[in-house]
Amino acid sequence: MAVNYLYPEYEAARDNDRCITCRACERQCANGAHEYIAEKDKMVCDDSKCANCHRCVALCPTRALKIVKSGNTYRQNANWSGKIIDEIYRQAGSGGVLLSSMGNPEEYPVYFNKILINASQVTNPSIDPLREPMETRVYLGAKPREIERGVDGKIINNMPPQLRLSMPVMFSAMSYGSISYNAHESLARAAVELGILYNTGEGGLHEDFYKYGANTIVQVASGRFGVHPAYLNSGAAVEIKMGQGAKPGIGGHLPGTKIVGDVSRTRMIPEGSDAISPAPHHDIYSIEDLRQLVYSLKEATNYAKPVIVKIAAVHNVTVIASGIARSGADIIAIDGFRGGTGAAPTRIRDHVGIPIELALAGVDKRLRDEGIRDNVSIVVGGSIRSSADIIKAIALGADSVYIGTAALIALGCHLCRSCQTGKCNWGVATQAPELVKRLNPDIGYERLVNLLSAWQHEIKEMMGGMGINSIESLKGNRLMLRGVGLNEKELDILGIKHAGE
Ligand code: SF4
Ligand code: SF4
Ligand code: SF4
Repeated sequence: MAVNYLYPEYEAARDNDRCITCRACERQCANGAHEYIAEKDKMVCDDSKCANCHRCVALCPTRALKIVKSGNTYRQNANWSGKIIDEIYRQAGSGGVLLSSMGNPEEYPVYFNKILINASQVTNPSIDPLREPMETRVYLGAKPREIERGVDGKIINNMPPQLRLSMPVMFSAMSYGSISYNAHESLARAAVELGILYNTGEGGLHEDFYKYGANTIVQVASGRFGVHPAYLNSGAAVEIKMGQGAKPGIGGHLPGTKIVGDVSRTRMIPEGSDAISPAPHHDIYSIEDLRQLVYSLKEATNYAKPVIVKIAAVHNVTVIASGIARSGADIIAIDGFRGGTGAAPTRIRDHVGIPIELALAGVDKRLRDEGIRDNVSIVVGGSIRSSADIIKAIALGADSVYIGTAALIALGCHLCRSCQTGKCNWGVATQAPELVKRLNPDIGYERLVNLLSAWQHEIKEMMGGMGINSIESLKGNRLMLRGVGLNEKELDILGIKHAGE
């Protein structure tokens, strides 16, 4: 008999006194964990199939279900944790690379949690955002160094193309294929309603979504899936994806099972074929090569749209950003190592890259020191979780942030981290029609608008508390931040003082 080395990580604990055998849990679990046993008139669960997505818990009408961490433990060992042992068993069984989704769950420092925001007291009084104007609008793109005037004294408008956002937030790149049609529709409609932008990711743009073009960033990645002139011209900006925080240094892979119907047509690849983006762009090996692509895309879009270059936050990110700021790009997007993804090798996701807070502070400082900060706007992403994170990111030098995981959570994602299976029970990261329809785009869109409207209120309140009435005045204003429990080096890189100083 084959030995089963792996035990379920979670168990479905059912209160049989409450269970009315309605079988809703059986219908809701795409993993087939729950089953009705007719002879016993009883529900049972195969815990090994449970991804802990909470769909059955949320829809059980009698609150009979709980998903609990398995009590099974290996002998205590500080070096060889149960997780490590399980991973070795898994690889010894499969011979394959471990795959995961969403962001890095390991216990690295979250610097946003060690930074506190200032508030005015007595002098430089705070501002009441309910009674005073509070500007959260931002413009992204290269800014002219000086104002030029014509012979008639009038200002010459030499402003490069800009993106206008009602608040310093955008939805980060999530491709159609990795997330569902209904998730994409929710993001696109919310972006329009909020006056911000969403991002196609590398999967092309479904023809139904061209109408949201003014609020769309179209992405060009190494695989060039779905890239053609109409696509490039359909959006408000073009983003070149050089890297991604969840998997720096490697390409992307969407399995052939997800390349069906509209996804295959949108990506312009045959049904059932794996969509593999190479790790590098095969035409980019230097900043000069990148510059060529930046200008090719500007040429293709009649110099009317800003070009964004997205990179992962890695060790020498400040040098890379300095090169990008000289490449003709209008915006640099930096994705930190806690950024989410639909699928990544677990080892890469959990061990490669650096925290976005350090990357951002380092890049902002370097570009200022080199006198080229106005060449580009800086957008950061990689686990921005709240309006407080946004305030801290802006004060560390960002012009705006990207949010991905937070937006998906607003749509119902329960962070079960099994997007790579394509069986998302919440209709977010799946192409299975019966699962996709679980996410109603009318509700999804409304929830995203609610979330960001609430964040906008909070941003105004925090700015008012600091006595600041515009995002522009907060940008790079490190005096508004203090560190707690950080060492000298960390404070130095972040460019902030310790609390009490
Ligand atoms: S959904 Fe709840 S009540 Fe219905 S069968 Fe499952 S555990 Fe029982
Ligand atoms: S995978 Fe989700 S729906 Fe299925 S048993 Fe686990 S928690 Fe319930
Ligand atoms: S998108 Fe779906 S599969 Fe992915 S983590 Fe969220 S709930 Fe799980």
